[in-house]
Amino acid sequence: MRYSNYFIPTLKEVPAEAEIASHKLMLRAGMIRKVASGLYTYLPLGLRSIRKVEAIVRQEMNRAGSIELLMPIVQPAELWHESGRWDHYGKELLRFKDRHGRNFCLGPTHEEVITDLVRKHIRSYRDLPLNLYQIQTKFRDEIRPRFGLMRAREFIMKDAYSFSATEASLDDIYQAMYRAYCLIFERCGLDFRAVEADTGSIGGHASHEFMVISETGEDGIACCASCSYAANTELAEVKPMDGTGPFEPGTSELKKVETPGKKSVDEVTIFLGKKAMELVKTLIFIADERPVAALVRGDHEVNEVKLKRVLGAESLEMAGAETVEKLTGAPVGFAGPIGLPMEVRVVADHAVACMKDFVAGANEGDAHFVGLNWKRDIEPPEFHDIRVITAHDPCPRCGGTIEIKRGIEVGHIFKLGTKYTEAMGATFLDSNGKARPIIMGCYGIGIGRTAAAAIEQNHDERGIIFPAPIAPFEVIISVINVKDKKMMSLAEGIYVALSGSGIDVVLDDRDVRPGVKFKDSELIGVPVRVTVGKKALTEGIVEVTDRSTMETRLVGCEDVQCEIESILR
Ligand SMILES: [Zn+2]
Repeated sequence: MRYSNYFIPTLKEVPAEAEIASHKLMLRAGMIRKVASGLYTYLPLGLRSIRKVEAIVRQEMNRAGSIELLMPIVQPAELWHESGRWDHYGKELLRFKDRHGRNFCLGPTHEEVITDLVRKHIRSYRDLPLNLYQIQTKFRDEIRPRFGLMRAREFIMKDAYSFSATEASLDDIYQAMYRAYCLIFERCGLDFRAVEADTGSIGGHASHEFMVISETGEDGIACCASCSYAANTELAEVKPMDGTGPFEPGTSELKKVETPGKKSVDEVTIFLGKKAMELVKTLIFIADERPVAALVRGDHEVNEVKLKRVLGAESLEMAGAETVEKLTGAPVGFAGPIGLPMEVRVVADHAVACMKDFVAGANEGDAHFVGLNWKRDIEPPEFHDIRVITAHDPCPRCGGTIEIKRGIEVGHIFKLGTKYTEAMGATFLDSNGKARPIIMGCYGIGIGRTAAAAIEQNHDERGIIFPAPIAPFEVIISVINVKDKKMMSLAEGIYVALSGSGIDVVLDDRDVRPGVKFKDSELIGVPVRVTVGKKALTEGIVEVTDRSTMETRLVGCEDVQCEIESILR
């Protein structure tokens, strides 16, 4: 490819619409352009990267026994009525009518269409298992699309659906998909974790999310430094701490002290000369219209997902200031376990059970209790795991050290079960001739999101640092003076040789200043730059620059390919 004939409209300025690095850089590097909110054109450079991700995904899916097909983006409402999702999917499902007045939608996912296909052709257990996938454009009418390809309305996704006769067969396919996903993200050159997305309350780990590690990730991940345990911080289990047994009495006397205007954990503990871990934080929630007081240690956070599950509640929200005042008799910031009305259900975290001589709000304006102890001063409430895991907690699997990282979800594998096959009557005859619903699994990868996440994980102030396997080009040859015929022909020679040996190379033959060429090559993140200048003519030497380290080496023309391959592989 010759740069001068190609289309790479780079931008100097950061577009105002972009908030995160990958979005800014994809716009600046001329990879994508916005058409409307959440809708993007993939420019040639962006498309090259996306096609490379697709190629890796396709290879590993095929290798893992999944079979490619392609379904339409427009789907008839009838199928969605059968699954029951037409009325329940919400506004993300873009519904419309055709010229005959029939209802259709743009597919946000394809369970209905594929289940309809499979039910028409699968008869017996002998026809199973079957694992089908597609790489296709999806549409979800996000209320607030943002972050470029991270949360677009139209996006490219790989979605696979498996069909099995037995749970054991589903397990096998699930494991095969898990391994394929690990290979895919490894081959894309990404630092990722497979995260348990379901803590297994229904037995087994029915779902994993694949997260690219990045500081800007939306999800917190608790990773063990010793074993492979990784879980979303919203779900990560916290084991009750060892050490002091629960309800051991302390030595201090219970006292009510004045804490004028001190509401937050920091304000109260600094004022009283205590540590955050010596205070019990009392938060008032409304769960299914009933009041709940959640007690956690001052340095811990309530995990609303866990609290909701413990309470068995449909809805859970923090109580408003007025409600808190009505229930506790004090303004927000002074709630505590002593003297709450009977109607308030009190739920405390395991860590709170081991506290003694602690501080808590007095349910009275500008007052806290100190020297508070369970049993001696107040009956202990019910204790559960209701808090967010921290880096101080042990790994729930092996007791190792937990690290808290942030991640971007790029893939998700999920044991669906018989939800769709039962609703849509997709059955098979087992070996006894009895009809049973087919057992499904589904497996998604966001293709554009993977490219964006790679940039989010790999960039610097100069621009993108593409992992070589998904870089739009592997090598860029920058010619210092394109008007110098000898220099140009030398560069062309290197270009032809590299292309001939299967390296994806672009020749920057534009008649612009070298500084402009260097800036562009760094912005678009080509892993290796070969600079052909005067030394090439006089000494047969070119400069080879590694984008990830920005280290430059002088290399003889005959060794260029060797040097490039050592950087790329
Ligand atoms: Zn562990």
